[in-house]
Amino acid sequence: MSIDFEFRKLVMDFHQGSDLIKYCYQCSRCADNCPVTKVSADFYGTTGYNPRNNILNALLGYKDLIFTEDELIIWGCTVCDTCDEVCPQDIELTEIFTFLKNQSIEQGKGPEFIYSQAKAIFDSAKAIPSQPAIERRREQMGLPAIVIPDVNELQTLLKNIGAAKKLK
Ligand code: SF4
Ligand code: SF4
Repeated sequence: MSIDFEFRKLVMDFHQGSDLIKYCYQCSRCADNCPVTKVSADFYGTTGYNPRNNILNALLGYKDLIFTEDELIIWGCTVCDTCDEVCPQDIELTEIFTFLKNQSIEQGKGPEFIYSQAKAIFDSAKAIPSQPAIERRREQMGLPAIVIPDVNELQTLLKNIGAAKKLK
């Protein structure tokens, strides 16, 4: 296990209050309140998802312990924001976890479900493509017709910001 100082600096620079991350004292309140930690620990035991470990490893520059074959380590976070609310040091954990997820995509190591969801958005400009059943239901409930998005516009945008290249 080696320390990646460049990665460590990137994490520090990414966090809005860069001083704050230095003050994580590993109290574990984030992990104790994280719903994913609770559920994944039931399934995987001690190898479940753990936000405290991620903060520690990011803080120490232990990149190899974060970007592993186990997608759960960083992609287990559902961004519910509970950890942000309970951290006594006001550390924006989800901000750091977003950075870790972005790094994972940069390295082409994101999980398959993320690529398929991104592709669905690229193809239809919607996270959930329209289906006749959904439209019928909306009509029955008296909701207005769904506005058809401009797929070309979205695709141009995604290409211009370089996101399209990251789709597998
Ligand atoms: S709750 Fe905050 S201070 Fe405590 S371990 Fe988690 S990140 Fe660190
Ligand atoms: S935001 Fe992520 S890490 Fe934080 S409590 Fe929710 S699932 Fe857990």
